[in-house]
Order: sequence, then C-alpha cells, then structure tokens
Amino acid sequence: MKFCVMSQCLFCRIAAGEIPAEKLYDDGEIFVIKDINPAAPFHVLIIPHKHIARLSDLGAGDLELPGRVYSQAAKIAHDEGFADEGYRVVANCNEGGGQTVFHIHFHLLAGRKMTWPPG
Ligand code: 5GP
Ligand code: ZN
Repeated sequence: MKFCVMSQCLFCRIAAGEIPAEKLYDDGEIFVIKDINPAAPFHVLIIPHKHIARLSDLGAGDLELPGRVYSQAAKIAHDEGFADEGYRVVANCNEGGGQTVFHIHFHLLAGRKMTWPPG
C-alpha cells in the first residue's frame, strides 16, 4: 500500500487507474480526460502526469509542459472540429482563481460561444 501525499490526489489516482475516467489521450507525460461536470458541450482536462499542485508551482524543469499542453489542446480542438469556430484553454490557480483540484490541469472548452470576462 502506498502512503504518500500523491496517493490522496484525485488526478494522480485517475492517472494510476485507481479511479475511472473517460480518457481520450495519454502519452506518458500528459493525459486527457472528459470533465465529469462539463461547463461546455465539449470539456476535457489536459493533465500532466507529474504532480504539480498549481500553476505557480511550475519549476524551472517544467517549462516545456505548458507548450506540450497547448499543442495537444490545439490538436484535440482540430480533431474534434472546433479549430475554426474557436475554443478556450484555461488553468485556474488557487481558490480565488477557481481551482478545486490541486494537481495542475488545463481545461479545454468548446462547442458554445465563450463569454468574456469569465465569471
Ligand atoms: P478546477 O476547478 O480545479 O479548475 O477544475 C477541476 C475540474 O475537475 C472540474 O471541472 C471538475 O468538474 C473536474 N472533476 C472533479 N472531479 C472529477 C472526477 O472525478 N473525474 C473527472 N473526470 N473530472 C472531475
Ligand atoms: Zn496529483
């Protein structure tokens, strides 16, 4: 049995297959799952395997990750047919930013007109 902080983390547990999720993609570095409570007709979460609690905890060795995430987001948006009409990629940081799961993740939302500023 594992006793570490990460084993308590929802997205680490999903990554380990301990909690089921509808997975669209996994390259061993990042994985993509459908959001359980979609805020748009198409709503997936792009999640690095590495447990980083929040955006502001990205370290000097992690700087390639956001590029990979955005590149994968663009590919998914294209493959799902949302590239032309548009989509949104967003990361919430800490409670004030709307973060509820403290393992870094990026929302990819599409399929409806997004409003600005977000609430
Ligand atoms: P945050 O609020 O941290 O920016 O985003 C967390 C997201 O994770 C929310 O959109 C929420 O609906 C989603 N979520 C929470 N629990 C689960 C779960 O067990 N499975 C999946 N697939 N998504 C989840
Ligand atoms: Zn985690």
